[in-house]
Amino acid sequence: MTSNALGGLRIQAIPLGTMRRLRSQGYDDHGHPWVRRVDREGGAPLRCCLRDSLAGEGIVLISYAPVRAAVTVDAGAYDEVGPVFVHEDPCDGYVDQGRYPTDWARVRPQVLRAYRADGSIADGVRVTPGDDYDAAARELLSDTDIAFLHARNVIFGCYMLEILRA
Ligand SMILES: [Zn+2]
Repeated sequence: MTSNALGGLRIQAIPLGTMRRLRSQGYDDHGHPWVRRVDREGGAPLRCCLRDSLAGEGIVLISYAPVRAAVTVDAGAYDEVGPVFVHEDPCDGYVDQGRYPTDWARVRPQVLRAYRADGSIADGVRVTPGDDYDAAARELLSDTDIAFLHARNVIFGCYMLEILRA
């Protein structure tokens, strides 16, 4: 076990700068228009703020490529694109508290995928409510070959957030 196993975590939402750019250009990075929908029920996981939407909030479903956003090289075949909900209007984003968002850990089983710095997948674990999501993340990040983790939903496979060493 290296010191990384005991180190802190940094939880990353879609960056504010990326959100600003997407809102101003009016479409996502894959050509889909910025279409407002009113979330009547609430409960859509927002990747800008890392919380569920509230009933009545304006949200947008966009395509997002999280691996491309995480690496400085061409991720090649690992450059996955998928749907994520974000706030329609400018929001404050997520304030990192150094742990997987507790509201989501209570209800959302996740896959923690471990990536190398080139964007290739190296490892992964499944966590379910009741597990210690942060301990699982630290364990994966204790491998110095791992650069970052992506949490994804288990059934739909959608990207939720990024986990880095603090
Ligand atoms: Zn937001």
